Amino acid sequence: MSKKKERIIPKYAVGPIETHCHLDYLKGQELIDTLEKCQEYGVNKVVTIAVSPDNLKKVRDLTANEIVYGTQGIHPHEAKHITQGTYQEIEESLTNPKIVAVGEIGLDYYYEFSDPNIQKEAFEKQLQIACDNDLPVVIHTREADADTKAILKNFSTTLKRKGVIHSFTSGIELAEFCLSEGFHIGFNGIVTFKNAGNVRNVLDIVPVEQMLLETDSPYLTPVPFRGRENAPFYLPCIADFIATHKEIDAQKLIDIANSNAENLFFKLR
Ligand SMILES: [Zn+2]
Repeated sequence: MSKKKERIIPKYAVGPIETHCHLDYLKGQELIDTLEKCQEYGVNKVVTIAVSPDNLKKVRDLTANEIVYGTQGIHPHEAKHITQGTYQEIEESLTNPKIVAVGEIGLDYYYEFSDPNIQKEAFEKQLQIACDNDLPVVIHTREADADTKAILKNFSTTLKRKGVIHSFTSGIELAEFCLSEGFHIGFNGIVTFKNAGNVRNVLDIVPVEQMLLETDSPYLTPVPFRGRENAPFYLPCIADFIATHKEIDAQKLIDIANSNAENLFFKLR
């Protein structure tokens, strides 16, 4: 007999920093209510991620909210929409002190919404922008382990600030490579899904010192809130699940993950 898990968001003395969400994609909630609820659950810093040429400015505008930070970059899905003006807009925006990284950038051969060669070119160009501006990167990679590894290898010495492989769903070998290069690995609600054994296998080998917590909201709502639109204030559910899985104290996990996020995104701004 299994008892159904109670649908509550755990509250911690210090809540987790949200390192990856898409606030401009939330549909069923008012931003002001969402941000208020974040603070109620101790999610006191929220990084909202750029993905396309037409949301770069939206992300910058969102950083007008005190607890919101942003990134600038083009997702592999959108690589085919990049123009020369896009790179210029990204570069010019990086002087904004609330823009903390270049992203999300990378490769996605699962959907292949953009041609792989166009994806690779966009990934490399934006990695170079991160190098030139001494910023970390937020990387999306799916079904593209070999090319991701090859490209990151080429930037091994020039990309000083490294970054995060967010929503990690790739293989153990890529995880090991990224960890050895000094990257962080980002985990979200996927780890709570019943069929995500492969992601939990990666979780097992990632030291807490190289882990970031994220929701990727409005997508990937964690258990026990499946069926609702995701939001950054559900992040404590993910922290709680990971702490239980890794058999460490949840507050300790949050404290370490927060210090990882501080060092990566906030310290040098
Ligand atoms: Zn994302």
